[in-house]
Amino acid sequence: MSTINPFLSAMKQLDNAHAALTKGKKKNTAIDQKVAQLREPQRMVNVSIPVVMDDGSQKIFQGYRVQFNNSRGAYKGGIRYHHNVSLDEVKALSFWMAMKCAVADLPLGGGKGGIIVDPKSLSVGELERLSRGYGKAIADIIGPDIDVPAPDVNTNGIIMGWMVDEFLKVQRKKAKLLGVTLTKRDEMKLKSTFTGKAIRDGGSEGREEATGLGGLFVLKTILKKLRLKGRLTAAVQGFGNVGYNIVKFLDEAGITVVAVSDSKGGIYVPEGINPALTLECKKKNGPPDGGLAGCYCSGSVCDLKKGKQVTNDALLELPVDILVPAALENAITEKNASKVRAKVVLEMANGPTTPEADVILYKKGIPVIPDILSNSGGVTVSAFEWEQNLKGQHWTKAQVNTKLAKKMTDAAGAVWIASVSHKTDLRTAAFIVALERILKAMK
Ligand code: NAD
Repeated sequence: MSTINPFLSAMKQLDNAHAALTKGKKKNTAIDQKVAQLREPQRMVNVSIPVVMDDGSQKIFQGYRVQFNNSRGAYKGGIRYHHNVSLDEVKALSFWMAMKCAVADLPLGGGKGGIIVDPKSLSVGELERLSRGYGKAIADIIGPDIDVPAPDVNTNGIIMGWMVDEFLKVQRKKAKLLGVTLTKRDEMKLKSTFTGKAIRDGGSEGREEATGLGGLFVLKTILKKLRLKGRLTAAVQGFGNVGYNIVKFLDEAGITVVAVSDSKGGIYVPEGINPALTLECKKKNGPPDGGLAGCYCSGSVCDLKKGKQVTNDALLELPVDILVPAALENAITEKNASKVRAKVVLEMANGPTTPEADVILYKKGIPVIPDILSNSGGVTVSAFEWEQNLKGQHWTKAQVNTKLAKKMTDAAGAVWIASVSHKTDLRTAAFIVALERILKAMK
């Protein structure tokens, strides 16, 4: 994917929303000043993490935690492991988190973290030592009502578990210095500092699939408004946590997913892919990430005659009803936007469409359901996990999914209303909804 600076894209989106919000109104210095504050994070932390490698040598990794804005509550946002992580990327992602939490009307602000690393090149032991090192390095600036991290690209519940463990060690040490012993209840509350944990560590039912399921609820709401129905087809870029789950939920909702891809390339299966069999086949292709090559699985079998290979670029240009970028930033740019043939784009990744591409898609009449709305199901169930830990509760999956459905439907409805009343695209509308809520909360 291209090297367009995601933070510059994020700021362009902020400018568009600010302009739309103040259009035709008298100059309001108070609003302008608050928006100016939203152009920079409140705090940025750069950590270096020394890790003993399996061969006894030492490697030093660079990591970040950016705390963008906490006007509506504790900073909230995932931790990404990727060789392309940069400070500007983490800044952009933390800004989008602030906007996302506001769109979903959660009592949380925005933050994000990342480590520059190719995790697939590490052994499990090295990955654990790196994760523990990062957890320890940021322990002083996080907490249930300060900053609440979660998984993102290449991180998961196991990694969160290692970080929680390190965070608790630091907290126990601090308590000991004060002559206090932490009770089980105290520790459960402290565990709410990380979400996306495994269930046995205090995680929430439904968290792993929440981003995908939330995306489906948003999509259904917007499709109704667009009056798009009948036998719909979809193509999904990315087949990780978010990509796999949205494929699964689209399939369950009767939408035929004809193409999926991962970082190694994609597959096109016109009859519609079987998500579980495709995942199984990808795993069989070998660890750590064998790729989708030859996984033409449809109905109840995988058969080489059922499909063909497709490149990541070609997948974005397929004549489907719904295009779902679910991998990384900058998938749809000014170079390929004019070739998109879908009727609607559902952004499940963060920042997959550049502002220039947005303009092209808008002119082509292709609505883009923006990331800060479509993928907000993940942080919504993270917020539920945080709430359950703080209250000492454990909700059933049915309870979680009912609450998620309501949050997503309300958020999509609010964005649609803003797009109609401000006569603007869905992204600008989502930013308007978020900005209004954040500006109200800012002192
Ligand atoms: P993941 O690591 O589980 O999966 C990422 C997927 O993208 C993998 O299948 C990988 O092979 C693929 N990929 C990487 N580079 C690619 C490329 N150039 N072309 C095509 N595919 C490529 O990560 P994830 O958690 O599924 O996150 C995916 C996106 O969704 C990210 O933008 C993330 O920030 C966003 N997101 C994740 C969550 C969550 O709950 N995990 C929540 C909201 C948003």
